[in-house]
Amino acid sequence: MAKSVAESSSKKGLPAGIWTTCKKCEQILLRKDYEENFMVCPKCGYYARLNARKRIAYLVDENSFCEFDKDMKPVDFLNFPGYSDKIKKSQINDAVVTGSAQINGYKAALAVMDFEFMGGSMGSVVGEKIVRAVEFAIENKYPVIIVSASGGARMQEGIVSLMQMGKTSAALARLAENNLPYISVLTDPTTGGVAASFAMLGDINIAEPKALIGFAGPRVIEQTIRQQLPEGFQLSEFLEKHGMVDIVAERKDLKDVITKALNFFCGKK
Ligand SMILES: [Zn+2]
Repeated sequence: MAKSVAESSSKKGLPAGIWTTCKKCEQILLRKDYEENFMVCPKCGYYARLNARKRIAYLVDENSFCEFDKDMKPVDFLNFPGYSDKIKKSQINDAVVTGSAQINGYKAALAVMDFEFMGGSMGSVVGEKIVRAVEFAIENKYPVIIVSASGGARMQEGIVSLMQMGKTSAALARLAENNLPYISVLTDPTTGGVAASFAMLGDINIAEPKALIGFAGPRVIEQTIRQQLPEGFQLSEFLEKHGMVDIVAERKDLKDVITKALNFFCGKK
């Protein structure tokens, strides 16, 4: 069904890419409407994962984003099989985009993870770019906002990827010592070493609905503790109920919720 409508639209001479399909319910959607709806399916409410560029476009004031360390690329220092090829073939340099931006007039340092690059895994570049963004914030007395989307640490960088957990957490501790706020936004999925470090350290932790958030996957936990896990375990709503997440915010409201937090921490604009 999905295919036939898309095919017939191309036969009618409509421009390519005018339609898109919801990954969950397979509803055919007009791409323009879908993008205006923040890539949330109007039929079933499914949240498509956003790459970093799209997320930044939805979140910051127009033309306010100024990118940091755009050309920083990872190095395959362990000669891990296949890693060099992956780096070479990728259109994106690494799994985080950082910069300064304004959000409803509030200046902030921003780091947005990109799941499209190796599952948003955290290696040396992710850690270094986040730390530099935090240091920029300390220097300029800006708040920090990090949007996480990650499968965890990057095994291709071995122990160096794990070191980024401590490195980013230490930078955020220095931010706190300087009395500057950190707003963490957790999106689907935020797991492993990222969940176990900076993603959970926000002065306020905001999650998107139904995002998978946790350290290890449910199967590993069930096998370890030999107990069945409760319904909805590791989803945003469950974590909010149990105090791990402060607010579950719909994507369309996210900019406003962040603005309210900035207003609370930094005063009126
Ligand atoms: Zn849908």
